[in-house]
Amino acid sequence: MLLSRFPRLHFAHLPTPLEPMENLSKALGGPQLWVKRDDCTGLAGGGNKTRKLEFLMADALAKGADTIVTQGATQSNHVRQSAAIATRLGLACEILLEDRTGSDDPDYNHNGNVLLDQMMGASLRQVPGGTDMNAALADLAATLENNGAKPYIIPGGGSNPIGALGYAHCALELLYQANNSGLNIDLVTHATGSAGTQAGLVAGFATTRSHVPVLGYGVRAPRAQQEANVYTLACATADLMGCPDAVGRDQVVANCNYVGAGYGIPREDTLEALSLFARYEGLLLDPVYSGKGAAGLIDGIRKGEFDKSMNIVFVHTGGAQALFGYRQAFGFDTYPVAAPSL
Ligand SMILES: *Cc1c(COP(=O)(O)O)cnc(C)c1O
Repeated sequence: MLLSRFPRLHFAHLPTPLEPMENLSKALGGPQLWVKRDDCTGLAGGGNKTRKLEFLMADALAKGADTIVTQGATQSNHVRQSAAIATRLGLACEILLEDRTGSDDPDYNHNGNVLLDQMMGASLRQVPGGTDMNAALADLAATLENNGAKPYIIPGGGSNPIGALGYAHCALELLYQANNSGLNIDLVTHATGSAGTQAGLVAGFATTRSHVPVLGYGVRAPRAQQEANVYTLACATADLMGCPDAVGRDQVVANCNYVGAGYGIPREDTLEALSLFARYEGLLLDPVYSGKGAAGLIDGIRKGEFDKSMNIVFVHTGGAQALFGYRQAFGFDTYPVAAPSL
């Protein structure tokens, strides 16, 4: 699998480390948990969108774009990472933020990722929750084009076959790390939203016939819809890689039981997962994605869904910058701060 056939820029800090989570594994009584540190991809705070943007921005430059147009929820990590690379490449960055949670918390609407987007010079517009974001992006791009710009549309989360190549590459990187260290990976797990991360991982493992199962924990859509989205994109990505028919429907598995009231609204177990990762491993998860993924993994371990002998890799997809938009969720408002019981 030769991904260098595809245009790509190199700005991510790769390979990201693959580290054991010894304390957390012990506290939960096994299996062996590992963390793939894609929160450390280096682009203005890092996260999983950076790998996708290496391929997407190469395509944007090849097409002569001078403006990036993309969208996300108010606390989107994808928008932050897009704003960072756009500004570094000297491109304008036009953003639509969808008010998916309806929160009127000033931290949610102005701090965290929103603060960072503005700091990097992105032009932000908020639109109501439920807006047809693809249509709105196309409208915005058409307006910009009429004004003489050359816009390049990046879909939400950077999730199209070009962006998903970034996670096919991550699958190869994981295989290389596992092969070199003698680690037999039994399962790769992570939070799945716009589907590009899981689709790319599945395509990467399928096209190399490495038989590493991937389990995505959903953060928004119900299971049937999430799996259909991931499967469609994984097939299109494998096709782009020159391996049509490589991906089997049974290789796409999502568990969407940890979404709770909706996208961007943390549950009790989301907050508990954040606390466990922070206090056992010094790792910062986020309340929208990785916290829900970790909550699902922890609950599955407690329910005995995973054999104790397994090696499970949790891909930390980043997002801790959004924590500053969620200060109120934690209730740490008074000193001394009582240590939560674990
Ligand atoms: C976007 C995002 C995800 C989900 O990745 P998709 O490719 O959209 O499925 C997971 N975690 C974080 C922190 C993200 O920002």
